[in-house]
Amino acid sequence: MPQVGQGILKGMGVTIRHLFQNKITRQYPEYKRDLPERSRGMLTVDMDRCIACLQCMRICPDHCISIEQEKRDADGSGKAKPYAVGFVIDDSRCMYCSLCVEVCPVNCIYHTEEFEAQAYNRLELARQFGERPVDPTIDPKPAVKKKPKVAKKAPKKEAAA
Ligand code: SF4
Ligand code: SF4
Repeated sequence: MPQVGQGILKGMGVTIRHLFQNKITRQYPEYKRDLPERSRGMLTVDMDRCIACLQCMRICPDHCISIEQEKRDADGSGKAKPYAVGFVIDDSRCMYCSLCVEVCPVNCIYHTEEFEAQAYNRLELARQFGERPVDPTIDPKPAVKKKPKVAKKAPKKEAAA
């Protein structure tokens, strides 16, 4: 019994000591601290600059990015070029590796400071950027896989002597 009393006194001592100290608890989400300069938040795409080269989709190791592409004369030059009509980034798979950012030739996909990706349904984490929604449940990678190499013909068996 005396040991129990000692424990309570010790605990109260800690509580009372902290009552007179400066508060160090920061009330998130009301208080948000500044992020480090090179922190990586959720991705965004500037669709006006995207040239639909598909490099971000191809390099993504988690298959987060799906792009629906068609040929269109978007700049009025009279020449149809690849155009991203649909562009989705699935945040439920993204690991913020930044490979897509590094590979983009026109720097139109980049990290924001937004990092609060949460939803009750995983599909809600798929963010659409194009004019036509893309189904995020379809894995984009098989569509861009290279054709399998044709197996070399087996050497003819030598004629039996
Ligand atoms: S940051 Fe990495 S995982 Fe996320 S979309 Fe880009 S390449 Fe994929
Ligand atoms: S790499 Fe850049 S330009 Fe190419 S499709 Fe992705 S976002 Fe668009």
